[in-house]
Amino acid sequence: LIPFNRPCVLGTELKKISDVFTNEKFSGDGHFSKKCHEHLKKKLNVKKALLTTSCTDALEMAALLINLKPGDEVIMPSFTFVSTANAFALRGATIVFIDIDPLTMNLDLACLTKAITKNTKAIVVVHYGGWCCDMKELKKVCNDNNLFLIEDAAQSYLSTFQNKSLGSWGDLSCLSFHETKNIQCGEGGALLINQKELVERAEIIREKGTNRSKFFRGQVDKYSWVDLGSSFLPSELNAAFLLAQLEDDEVIIKKRIDIWNQYQDELSEFEFAKPLSETKINGHLFALKLKDLEQRTLFIEFMKNKKITTSFHYIPLHSSEAGKKFGRFHGQDHFTTRESERIARLPLYHALTQQEVSYITKTIKSFFEQIKRSTTRSS
Ligand SMILES: *Cc1c(COP(=O)(O)O)cnc(C)c1O
Repeated sequence: LIPFNRPCVLGTELKKISDVFTNEKFSGDGHFSKKCHEHLKKKLNVKKALLTTSCTDALEMAALLINLKPGDEVIMPSFTFVSTANAFALRGATIVFIDIDPLTMNLDLACLTKAITKNTKAIVVVHYGGWCCDMKELKKVCNDNNLFLIEDAAQSYLSTFQNKSLGSWGDLSCLSFHETKNIQCGEGGALLINQKELVERAEIIREKGTNRSKFFRGQVDKYSWVDLGSSFLPSELNAAFLLAQLEDDEVIIKKRIDIWNQYQDELSEFEFAKPLSETKINGHLFALKLKDLEQRTLFIEFMKNKKITTSFHYIPLHSSEAGKKFGRFHGQDHFTTRESERIARLPLYHALTQQEVSYITKTIKSFFEQIKRSTTRSS
């Protein structure tokens, strides 16, 4: 059986974890967390990187940092993971969902500008597939309208647009190191901060609303409760595991890009979600497009019978129970529902071999041949 995903494991993680035992420092922000912070900051060229226990947590920190109040609006695509919206709904904001571009499955900039009102406070862009919309244009829209730009970069570690890392465009960006992502530590994430003025408060929010980080740097002589916050920092055990993977991040990403390119070459005659030009991808996912929901259901079943697991993706948030309660859709849903009903993600993970990819693409071709035969017969 070829599973849909297998978490990436290198083997070097165990040694680092045993070093945590030697250091006898298990709680957050020890040696390994600091190493991860430095690595992310340098690699992505951001002002500050702080590990969190998930991307969900990083998004919640972002929502706290921009001081949302009830009535404020936050615009995002409806085609995304629950946490993108939930983090801002938790602060009482109204979520304004917009449509996607069917080619990239990322937000549609034309829909975005029409959705901006005097209550709009922030735009959350979701780098679906590990690639993005036109970030230069988006940044201009945010600047012109005085809006925070927040990147949900959960899937896009090490991708670039116009040679600039995703995660370094926004005021705030959120990464995920969940086991389903390219680089993983079980559960993990990071908040990236590109606005100097937000750094100190981010440290406070992450440390239960205290100025503990300043205390450890010797900048204050005792620490106390100074603002709202929570406990957003991971244990050193997770940071040690993560550092092992970050040290080999280029190797891991290269492997995934090779798989992505093999899918692209062998499936060039079919439709699939694609990045814009000027993008360097990270091989996070490959989403094939079927004709419609009915054909996708047949496809997933056909592949399953050939021992290949494929997977659909998000149920659009504006159609969900909570989405209706906490948000609204602006404009027409031309593509969100239709496109989400016809994508099937193919297996893509570190341990997947070239032979397995060939077997998968051959099987896909035989599916489409069977479809063609049955339609010629019936017409
Ligand atoms: C995976 C993912 C998340 C959630 O990440 P966690 O680390 O599991 O909280 C959020 N947004 C997107 C787009 C994701 O793909």
